Amino acid sequence: MNTKLVKIEENPQFFSEAGEILRAGGLVAFPTETVYGLGGNALDSLAAKKIYAAKGRPSDNPLIVHVAEMESLYELASEVPQTALRLARRFWPGPLTMILPKKASVPDGTTGGLKTVAVRMPNHPVALQLIRTSGVYIAAPSANTSGRPSPTCAEHVMEDLNGKIEMILDGGAVEIGIESTIVDLTGEIPVILRPGYITKQMLEEVVGEVAVDPAVLTRHPDPGLRPKAPGMKYKHYAPKAELIILEGEPQAVIQRINQETKKAQEKGKKVGVIATTKTKDSYDADVIRVIGSRDEEETIARGLYGSLREFDKDQVDLIFSESFSDGIWGQAVMNRLLKAAGYQVITVS
Ligand code: AMP
Ligand code: MG
Repeated sequence: MNTKLVKIEENPQFFSEAGEILRAGGLVAFPTETVYGLGGNALDSLAAKKIYAAKGRPSDNPLIVHVAEMESLYELASEVPQTALRLARRFWPGPLTMILPKKASVPDGTTGGLKTVAVRMPNHPVALQLIRTSGVYIAAPSANTSGRPSPTCAEHVMEDLNGKIEMILDGGAVEIGIESTIVDLTGEIPVILRPGYITKQMLEEVVGEVAVDPAVLTRHPDPGLRPKAPGMKYKHYAPKAELIILEGEPQAVIQRINQETKKAQEKGKKVGVIATTKTKDSYDADVIRVIGSRDEEETIARGLYGSLREFDKDQVDLIFSESFSDGIWGQAVMNRLLKAAGYQVITVS
């Protein structure tokens, strides 16, 4: 298949072609404010099958359905509680996905066999226009090969999906850089299944007490903890090289990373380091990548996946990373980084 790559903001005439592709059951990748999505018609189970095939994604891992209007909630969910309406009014369009009981019209192929559906209204003009022009609800997981870091620009999507999908709408680099917060609204109190840009505190300001799925907080691979978002159980976001996180007092971390780097280099390994704007000159590794600045926390979330992907091109054997658990989005960033590292953490004292 020939994948058409279109700079959509300069060529808006391609929205109608993209819409036709979606209505005909084909796949179009598009930007959202979080990461790039791989879209197909959410109510067409064959389109869902194609999404799983293109990504190499396990079919028990359900897809998020993207909408452009609030009323669409009633078309997809069999029950829409007050909490859902309040959260949607406050955070939509935006990086919040809500889990609700699904209507029969949503195929099992889209929800991985679950009786619930994940719904989100993205805050990106290209995504919203694509949903409106196509006239379909768009099921879209992140537009990467399953297991690889999520794509934060169209080039990342090309790397993974060129030749496997009909079209990629290039809308430039994304704003947030990590996936949406997922909140399950099917129980007594809302439960966060995946942390993201919308934090627990932000949710609690709108709906009162919110819980966090214990699997989100784990710092160890724990087969006893079954995450309620099926996708969260898979190794994810991983670069090809082994990745190890070092945490502790900043100067001690730098020292230890340099020691470990030296040891690995003596064994003939090529070593990469994930650093910040402030620490980048403190390291002796072969490749040093700046993820962002701790003073502007949002740059760290935005830089995470790109940094991990770049290391694949550098062909490093081993990567050491500073830890990023502080601040408002620390939990969301660390949740991804820990998975990418297969939970390998060295605590430096
Ligand atoms: P992705 O869009 O690739 O970032 O993945 C979507 C995430 O949403 C995965 O972790 C899924 O497991 C999760 N998800 C989608 N639908 C549901 C659902 N009905 N219940 C729980 N988690 C869901
Ligand atoms: Mg994903």
